[in-house]
Amino acid sequence: MKQVARQARAEGRPLGFVPTMGALHEGHLSLVRAARAGCQPVVASIFVNPTQFGPNEDFQKYPSSLDEDRKKLEDAGVDYLFTPGAAEIYPPGFRTWVNVEGLSDRLEGRVRPGHFRGVATVVLKLLELVQPQKVFFGRKDAQQARIIRQLARDLYLDSEIVVCPIVREADGLAMSSRNAYLNPAERRAATILFRALDTARASILRGERDALRVVSLMRDTLRTEPLASQDYVELVDEDTLEPVTRLRGKCLALLAARVGSTHLIDNLLIEERDGAFVATL
Ligand code: AMP
Repeated sequence: MKQVARQARAEGRPLGFVPTMGALHEGHLSLVRAARAGCQPVVASIFVNPTQFGPNEDFQKYPSSLDEDRKKLEDAGVDYLFTPGAAEIYPPGFRTWVNVEGLSDRLEGRVRPGHFRGVATVVLKLLELVQPQKVFFGRKDAQQARIIRQLARDLYLDSEIVVCPIVREADGLAMSSRNAYLNPAERRAATILFRALDTARASILRGERDALRVVSLMRDTLRTEPLASQDYVELVDEDTLEPVTRLRGKCLALLAARVGSTHLIDNLLIEERDGAFVATL
């Protein structure tokens, strides 16, 4: 992998990188397309990173479809697929961890302790191996994207971090490999995350600026779905991830819920532009 990276660099070609955990869907492929638009070669990785899963999480049963994934990536024009083994990424005696303090403890990090330590560590390792000019992430995992941006800044990484829009199913559900866990009733119920965010968006477009009222609206909407239980619903500053009381600048409405036993997340990006607010699902 390093040799491919060195060669691209020597030839002056911008390498684009799309890290994934496989079980690929249109969300992943949208990142590949974004990479293809400005980079050549494009490298995708599939690595189900054990260190970002908690002891009672779904590491053992995380969906896997390597043959189909390979075909999808080929069709999408990926030049290299990198699929390291767990023992290559974490050889015996491995001791170094990356911890992006503060940003990693709240929200998803509170529900999943240690999750972002695993994410930051594997992302830095992958970036060292692939040495991309640009690396592509989805806003679906907005907190993750924010943490990686911080990591890149704090450690002077050469890679540019590009964050791409959320790709959704026709009924609004954000695409996720974990959606495969949902039975038909849960799949219908899962749209409640999108609907809660859409309610927030509508209220902001009507002029609501009180963040606590927007959060209440989202919580009330989520509560109408008996198959869903809330993990968190917050409206935070996009930079600090600290809760805000009034909308200003760039904010994120972030929510997480379990539908059945499946942990789902989604978010709404809220941006102030010339005094008006634009909310993007
Ligand atoms: P994962 O395989 O779930 O680790 O995701 C790999 C990358 O794809 C991450 O940067 C995710 O944010 C991104 N991603 C996952 N789902 C979506 C989606 N629905 N839309 C856009 N990006 C996504």
